[in-house]
Amino acid sequence: MPAETAVPETPAIPPLAAGAGGAQAPRRLRSRKCRFCRMNFPPDYKDVSTLQKLCTGQGKMYSRKRAGNCAYHQRLFTTAVKQARILALLSYTG
Ligand SMILES: [Zn+2]
Repeated sequence: MPAETAVPETPAIPPLAAGAGGAQAPRRLRSRKCRFCRMNFPPDYKDVSTLQKLCTGQGKMYSRKRAGNCAYHQRLFTTAVKQARILALLSYTG
């Protein structure tokens, strides 16, 4: 009877994270429409929760590309944020 050699089991090494050019999970297709176009409702200075979603924690507005707004609604959005800041509904800084 051969003596059993105790080989410590090495934990399975997870495969390296897929880098550039590697296999990646397919991107979920998102609607290309701007959120205000989808809601069919323009940005409103009183709708603070929606405006906050499109601002950073520091109070900066996200760019059109980042927020996914169309040009028309981004213009209305900036106006709404500025109005909300004047009325102290939103902060100028974090
Ligand atoms: Zn839009």
